[in-house]
Amino acid sequence: MTDGYGREIDYLRISLTDKCNLRCSYCMPREGIRHIEHKDILTLEETGRLAHIMSELGINRVRLTGGEPLVRRGVTDLIRILRAECGLNEISMTSNGLLLAECAGELYDAGLTDINISLDTLREECFSYITGYDGRGLKCVLDGIDSAIEAGLRIKLNCVLMKGINEEDIIPLTEYAADKEVRIRFIELMPIGCAGRFERISTDDLIGRLEEKYGLPTPVPDSMKAYDKGPAEYYTFQEYSGQIGFISPISHKFCDSCRRVRLTAEGFLKLCLQYPDGVDLKTPMRSGVKDEELKKLMIDAVRGKPAAHSFDTSRGNTDKRRMVEIGG
Ligand code: SAM
Ligand code: SF4
Repeated sequence: MTDGYGREIDYLRISLTDKCNLRCSYCMPREGIRHIEHKDILTLEETGRLAHIMSELGINRVRLTGGEPLVRRGVTDLIRILRAECGLNEISMTSNGLLLAECAGELYDAGLTDINISLDTLREECFSYITGYDGRGLKCVLDGIDSAIEAGLRIKLNCVLMKGINEEDIIPLTEYAADKEVRIRFIELMPIGCAGRFERISTDDLIGRLEEKYGLPTPVPDSMKAYDKGPAEYYTFQEYSGQIGFISPISHKFCDSCRRVRLTAEGFLKLCLQYPDGVDLKTPMRSGVKDEELKKLMIDAVRGKPAAHSFDTSRGNTDKRRMVEIGG
């Protein structure tokens, strides 16, 4: 599928649920949200069918997200469906890692290849502060990371920084990543929903701080990014053993090279993170239309994919959906 600006669309993010076992303050309000009714959530078979149709239209990478994808019952069955029916050989997931220790092996056996685990701090009290989770949540996440490594999954860590909240975790997190021999990426905070009350740390600022600790930064050419085909820019530092990634949707906008669309848990094909544009696929699917008609809906919608977000200038016609309902 090609959009109206000539961009090839080959990457689909599928949100499996708008439920989550955490309440990260930049993503989900503390009081929670009004969840999609069970009957309105796509079944695993419906999700598989839409993914299959999209794979025929050129989607070759799928990422499962949420809410928290691991709270969705049957997630391993869906991975198997995607693997068997859509011919996808790259199936990834973004997870908060809380439940990962119990299921990493099962996910790998089902056919998951990659997992990005969100890790914003290495301090248990800060973890509770950010996520609203009482108890030893961080310990569970760290155990989950170990299990994922052991299971053979390819791992990346994702960290969202907020001024005055987890700045002091920057170096401990990069050290942790080096120690585990995994890549860490810092994602600039985006002003969606409740994130607006926090102050972002820009990538340039962050690279400056890392330079103070690790010496001269050198950008890694795209050809050396290995398995990461996403928008992260990687740097090596003179005195750091691995690569550190930066995803900078605000300070270094990458919309020109955007290749992604999103499917919400209720079957809405969403074209851009910011805007509400897209098409409802669930209603026509449940009314019995054929694959060819769904294909046409998808192709027509993709042609209308917005050129770029405008988080950096105005809030514009921003979607009312929160991050937890979109999946990042
Ligand atoms: N629950 C899973 C998790 O936390 O990894 C998957 C869903 S979460 C919405 C996906 C990613 O979006 C996470 O890495 C999270 O940190 C990131 N995220 C959420 N709100 C964000 C915001 N306002 N700006 C930037 N990233 C955000
Ligand atoms: Fe849940 Fe992920 Fe949002 Fe945190 S970032 S509230 S873990 S969906």
